Amino acid sequence: MKIGVLALQGDFREHLLAAKQSGHAALTVRRIDELAEVDALIIPGGESTTIAQLARTFGLFEEIKKHISAGMPVYGSCAGMILLADRIVDGAVGQETFGGIDMTVRRNAFGRQVDSFESDLNFAGSQMRAVFIRAPWVEEVSNSVQVLAEVLASDGKRHPVAVRQGSLLATSFHPELTGDLRVHRYFFDQVCVGAIK
Ligand code: GLN
Repeated sequence: MKIGVLALQGDFREHLLAAKQSGHAALTVRRIDELAEVDALIIPGGESTTIAQLARTFGLFEEIKKHISAGMPVYGSCAGMILLADRIVDGAVGQETFGGIDMTVRRNAFGRQVDSFESDLNFAGSQMRAVFIRAPWVEEVSNSVQVLAEVLASDGKRHPVAVRQGSLLATSFHPELTGDLRVHRYFFDQVCVGAIK
């Protein structure tokens, strides 16, 4: 497959590497014609407000929304998760998202306790170590959203940190930073396969 990585800001290089190490062609996406070339898109971690603003500046914002509505497989990590959420709590004033996943995420949710931390969790049946950096958590999901991983947070509740809705996948954590390819492989092998005609 040809995997596009939105390369406006954030840790897109690590996602390019993970796609290549999983045996796929990986291309940076900064323009509409580059988006049209790829089978699937990864939205990296970084700063969700900056990525959204740059997507507007580069004329990509509405185009990415259209591709999401048309069923393009998209995986977002951390800031990418925020950008795939239909609703945000504690967002910046007027903060926009591409949306697509029927959920509410709380931006910088873990940031109030500690800026970054690691945690062992179970992702879709696999035990893994996950890295969280000023990460969002999921506040609420609709019935159409599948929860793939959760963590027990400081508010005493278990919050989803990995979710899937159809061809969209999102994680609060950054598998691209640990060299563990299992989340990327899940995206390529479980989410993209079937979604790509
Ligand atoms: N806190 C960042 C945001 O709101 C996300 C952090 C990250 O991607 N590591 O976009």
